[in-house]
Amino acid sequence: MSSIPSLGAGAVEYLSLPAAARLIARVGVVECLRGLVDVLEHDFRRWSDFHKSARLAQHMPQGVIELMPIADARHYAFKYVNGHPGNTRLGVPTVMAFGAIARMDTGAPVFVSELTLCTALRTAATSVLAARHLARPDSRVMALIGNGSQSEFQALGFVGLLGIRSLRLYDRDPAATRKLVANLRSAEVAAELIECASAAEAVRGADIVTTLTADKTRAAVLRGEWLEEGMHINAVGGDCPGKTELDAAILRRARVFVEFDPQTRIEGELQHMPADFAVTELWRVLTGQAPGRCDRADVTLFDSVGFALEDYSVMRHMQALGRAHGGLESLALIPRLDDPKDLYSLIRAAEAGT
Ligand code: NAD
Repeated sequence: MSSIPSLGAGAVEYLSLPAAARLIARVGVVECLRGLVDVLEHDFRRWSDFHKSARLAQHMPQGVIELMPIADARHYAFKYVNGHPGNTRLGVPTVMAFGAIARMDTGAPVFVSELTLCTALRTAATSVLAARHLARPDSRVMALIGNGSQSEFQALGFVGLLGIRSLRLYDRDPAATRKLVANLRSAEVAAELIECASAAEAVRGADIVTTLTADKTRAAVLRGEWLEEGMHINAVGGDCPGKTELDAAILRRARVFVEFDPQTRIEGELQHMPADFAVTELWRVLTGQAPGRCDRADVTLFDSVGFALEDYSVMRHMQALGRAHGGLESLALIPRLDDPKDLYSLIRAAEAGT
């Protein structure tokens, strides 16, 4: 059937984990993030085009496995992702992910991708996008609490794209901080790196505080009494029921911004607050329908949990980079049949050894 290839069946582009790593290394982390921030902003600004839902989560004592779907008129996309804070003790990453994009007109999958590296990219790029609109433009110092897998991407994004010049680092595991420092030095990051002995020390004097810890508990990694006027808080690690990072006093003090309200109410720092607590979705700030920071003294909080739209954006961005720079493979995932009703012909062909 000659019409099938033009409808996208039979040709699934595939970005493997090694290929994604090579692509990001070739383009550069900051350049990948720079382009991705633009794609994210474009997609968030057309918020009403998307069919949105909170992600579907399967909880267990060790962690969570989630499916994150989103669709517009052209595409359906989803991500599979886990979050198991105890995994690193077993030698397995906390977060692992993959996903796909399909066409809406035929349902044919057209792109399959690793999304572990891509999740780190899209999370950092979304943080940068939010901070660009919410943090004071003269922010130069960022505290980074939690120095695990996501931390390099956040550090490089904030230094490369927002003008951060000093990073104050803390993790309760000193080896994680040493790993982060070594990776940032090897990336020749243009910022002073300060290793701190506590979260309180890291936060002192910071313009932006990023929390990136993993612990399946209601933690208070950041305490209300440490807040300073004009701070922006980029809270990334609290993203699951019963898994938060902030003292509730911070939510009472700050102006709070979220990705998708119905999901953040269940998963974010918002769990601390009553159901009618007022927050602003980020897309409204990006489209000028709601103010971001109103005053230098405002404390702003981006209560990030990660939304399916960001995964769709990063998949399209990496697909475009892969097409431009190489690295995409072809995945034999769906049938291309002479007779679309003759699926059995595949078995006959296999039996005949063709
Ligand atoms: P990771 O396990 O690689 O790193 C987490 C680090 O936090 C570890 O080094 C650990 O020692 C440290 N830590 C835990 N509790 C701490 C505390 N109380 N004080 C200081 N340090 C502490 O995990 P990761 O992949 O870097 O992910 C970090 C967090 O971000 C996870 O909770 C993950 O679920 C979340 N996450 C959120 C998004 C989002 O979109 N919001 C996306 C990806 C990951």
